[in-house]
Amino acid sequence: MRFEKLSNCYEKLSQTTKRLEKVEILAKFFENISTEDSDILYLIQGDIYPAYDERKIGISNQIAIKAISKAVGTDSKKVTALWKKIGDIGEVAKKLTNEKKQTTLASHLLTTKKVIDNLRKLPELIGKGTVEKKIALITELLTSSNPTESLYLIRILIGDLRIGVQESTIKYAILKAFFKNNKEYEEDLQRAIDRSNDLKEVFEFAKRGKIEDLEKIQLQVGKPIKAMLAQKAENIEDAFKHLGTPLAIEYKYDGFRLLIHKKGNIVTLFTRSLENVTKQFPEVINYIKEFVKGESFILDSEAVGYDKETKRYTDFQAISQRIRRKYNIKQISEKLPVEVNVFDVLYYNGKNELETPFKKRAELIRKIVTPHPYKLIYSKMKITSNEKEVKEFYKKALKDNQEGIMFKNLEAPYKPGRRVGNMLKLKPEENELDLVITGGEWGTGKRSGWISSFILSCKEGDKFLEIGKVGTGIKEKSKEGVGFNELNAKLKPLIIKEDKNGIKIKPKIVVTVHYQDIQRSPNYESGWALRFPRITTLREDRGTHDIANLEEIEKEFINQRAKNYKYG
Ligand code: AMP
Repeated sequence: MRFEKLSNCYEKLSQTTKRLEKVEILAKFFENISTEDSDILYLIQGDIYPAYDERKIGISNQIAIKAISKAVGTDSKKVTALWKKIGDIGEVAKKLTNEKKQTTLASHLLTTKKVIDNLRKLPELIGKGTVEKKIALITELLTSSNPTESLYLIRILIGDLRIGVQESTIKYAILKAFFKNNKEYEEDLQRAIDRSNDLKEVFEFAKRGKIEDLEKIQLQVGKPIKAMLAQKAENIEDAFKHLGTPLAIEYKYDGFRLLIHKKGNIVTLFTRSLENVTKQFPEVINYIKEFVKGESFILDSEAVGYDKETKRYTDFQAISQRIRRKYNIKQISEKLPVEVNVFDVLYYNGKNELETPFKKRAELIRKIVTPHPYKLIYSKMKITSNEKEVKEFYKKALKDNQEGIMFKNLEAPYKPGRRVGNMLKLKPEENELDLVITGGEWGTGKRSGWISSFILSCKEGDKFLEIGKVGTGIKEKSKEGVGFNELNAKLKPLIIKEDKNGIKIKPKIVVTVHYQDIQRSPNYESGWALRFPRITTLREDRGTHDIANLEEIEKEFINQRAKNYKYG
């Protein structure tokens, strides 16, 4: 397909905010994509592989500027100056391409295949001359682009497509394009997406127009699927109200989520944001092989840190450095050991268990796991209908230094990636939200050259809405907590715009923020502001998928009012 067609589709999508219109535009577009061109499903999501794939385009603004300058034959200083003026590097490419196209009439035949081919070469490049090669690959695409194409090419490159398309938009467009919008098929389609976690694969099967064909998409061990998410319970009573009786209660371990895949002798570990962390946890690989029976399986678990001497459980922050550690793995695994707490099974010896009721899945875990405390166990669980019993269990969890408890519906299936309310969490009252950093300001004096205050955003659909600014909670040097150094190193390459109003940062870095209270506010686009926010944890294990949305924030606000009323 001509890339021009795709970029016109991007353009149409970005011109409406209405989801139904986006679905309509996409559905029409999907009808024209042949199976050979189905990689376009990745480009629609601003990517070149499925989201869980670690090969990312990862182009800095500097490389993009150099490529634009080469393609249009303008000095890169001029491109940078224009970027500072316009603020959007994609728009800069569009403007300069437009000006150039008025003087030269280059042959124009860019295809989506060519775009994908060149972009896929980018993450493969390593070693000497990488930057030049990257620039050459991008320049080649830009020289045969029209202005709109160059705008979207640059946006894909810097990871900021801004067309407002979410996975669900694509799901509804597939339903419309290939299943006559038959809502009865929506759940089947959703389940296929859950098992596949790859919209290109689902698209190819769906294109045949037979809903039964989607059953051929199976879970694959070694290919990550999304983790099921929890909702908040207001209190014990509330949990019973939502989940019925009896229900299961478990410890809520304060570590990080680990999805464990094993096939034969090969174990693969993924975080909640589907990052492959197998290399970082060699001891866990051994535990899996030794203490879990089965030829192939996918387990869901929480890895929690503990102090080697006292055996006391630590919080997530204490072990977070293990997730991204690339060197001295053995030493750090001895210094900061983890215990794996298995709490779910999604696949076992060739059978998909996603639809199996939780009660049966929990029984299966207890059959296949041989518990070894401080190495690998199954999570502490109780089936109960008694509120008093829950209270005792909750107290004990907190005494054991865990975060709280989870409530689980015994009959519920496993729903990947969704907060459907089958699983609720209860923690002691703390005003806390996971948010993403979307901007900041340069510091002055001692902090000059650093991004010293950070704009926090929540989300609404695929939009990020600002909710506050924070400059505290971050340590200047300290090894404990979140450091300026660390945060700056992560944020600087993500800067997408910079002007007198501050810095705009690509939403990627998720942090846990504590605050005193939430107020309605006209100053932030979310309509809310946090009072006295403080960054407490850098959540390396989480992605933007996990951050709070407007509905949750409103709920927090209502609860806060109820509390003030009760105690005030
Ligand atoms: P939150 O991070 O507050 O949204 O709570 C949900 C998280 O709790 C999950 O993503 C898991 O990482 C973690 N968790 C700890 N213990 C359990 C458990 N027994 N069952 C499910 N999730 C758990």
